Amino acid sequence: MAKKEVSLYSLTLEELREYLKEQGFAKFAADQVYNWIFKRYEFDFDKWSNVSGKIKKHFEENLDTFLPKVVWNGLSKDGTRKFLIGMNDSNTVEAVAIPAKNNRLTLCVSSQIGCAIGCTFCHTGTMGLTRHLTTGEVVGQYLAVTKWLRENVDEEARLTNIVYMGQGEPLHNFNNVKQATKVFMEEKGIGLGQRKITLSTSGLVPQIEKLQDFPPVNVAISLHAAHNNIRTELMPINKAYDLTRLFEAIRKIPLKAHRWITYEYILIADLNDRVEDLDGLSDLLDKKVSKVNLIPFNEYPESKFKRPSDEKIKWFQDELNRRGYICTTRTTKGTDILAACGQLKSEHDKLNLWAD
Ligand code: SF4
Repeated sequence: MAKKEVSLYSLTLEELREYLKEQGFAKFAADQVYNWIFKRYEFDFDKWSNVSGKIKKHFEENLDTFLPKVVWNGLSKDGTRKFLIGMNDSNTVEAVAIPAKNNRLTLCVSSQIGCAIGCTFCHTGTMGLTRHLTTGEVVGQYLAVTKWLRENVDEEARLTNIVYMGQGEPLHNFNNVKQATKVFMEEKGIGLGQRKITLSTSGLVPQIEKLQDFPPVNVAISLHAAHNNIRTELMPINKAYDLTRLFEAIRKIPLKAHRWITYEYILIADLNDRVEDLDGLSDLLDKKVSKVNLIPFNEYPESKFKRPSDEKIKWFQDELNRRGYICTTRTTKGTDILAACGQLKSEHDKLNLWAD
C-alpha cells in the first residue's frame, strides 16, 4: 500500500486484520479498531483506550485518517436533513438523511464530485465531473453524518439504509463504490444487510454487465422514459446505450429469489406522462420483477421542465397499477432545502470552507 493513499475507513475487517499482520501487529487489534470506528463512531485516537500507541502512531504515519466533515446542514420541514460534506481537498458533496416509518433513516450518499452523465433534468448534471470519490470518502459520509447526528440530535442515532442516489453515477466509480458497499455490509461494523442498500444507475451498460461481481444489493435503474427519443433528450447516455442495449444488460443482472428491479421514472408534464408512455413501459417491463417508482419532477430555479398536476400523477400511477405493475409515487422530501433527487448541487462556491 502506498503511503497515505489508503483510508483507514476503506477496509473490511478481514482486510484490516491482514494489514495489521503484514505490518507486524497482532491481528486482533483490528477488531478493537473496528469497534471504535464503526460501532462507537469515535475518531479521536486518544480515546481508543484499548489500542496500542504503536498502532495509532502507525495509522497516523501510514494511512489516510481524514474523516470527511459536516460543514453545513439544513433541516427540511418534513424532517429530511441535507448535509454538505467537505473532503480533504476542500471539494464538497451532499448527503441527505431521509426519515421514514418504522424508525428508518436512509442516507442518500454521493459517489462522485459532480457527474459526467449530464441528465438534462438534473441540477447536479450541470456541474460536470470533477472527480470520483475514494472508498474512504463514500464510507466517510456515513460516518460523518452518524457522528454529527449523535452529537447534535440523538446519541443513539443510526442510519438504517443507504441509497446511492446523491451526486454522481455510482457505477462510473465501480471499484470504490463496490468496496464501500462491502464496508457498509461488514457484520462486525456497520452491518447493513443487502436489502438495506440500493445502487442506482443511469444505465451504464458495461458496468451493469459486471454486477455479478458486486455485492447483491437492490438495484434501481433511472429509466425516466420508455421511448428512445425522449430518453435521449433527458439522458444523453441513451445515445451510447439505448433502451434495447440497456434491457439486454438488465436481463443479465443476477436476481435473488423475491428480488425486484426498481425503475425510477421522473414524471415530467407533457413529456413522458402520456398514454403512449404507459404503453411503452408495459412493453419494456416484466411485471414479475419490476417495480416502478414515480418521481414527480422537482422544479428548481432555471429548470426547463414542469411538474405534472397531482391529478395527472395519480392517473399515471393508477394506470400502471391497473396494468398489473407495482407502482408507487415517491413523496417528495426536502424540497424546501433543495435536497430532493436531481436537485443536489454543491454549494461550495457559496461557502468559505475549511476556515478552521
Ligand atoms: S441524475 Fe444522476 S446520473 Fe444523471 S446527471 Fe444527475 S447525478 Fe448524474
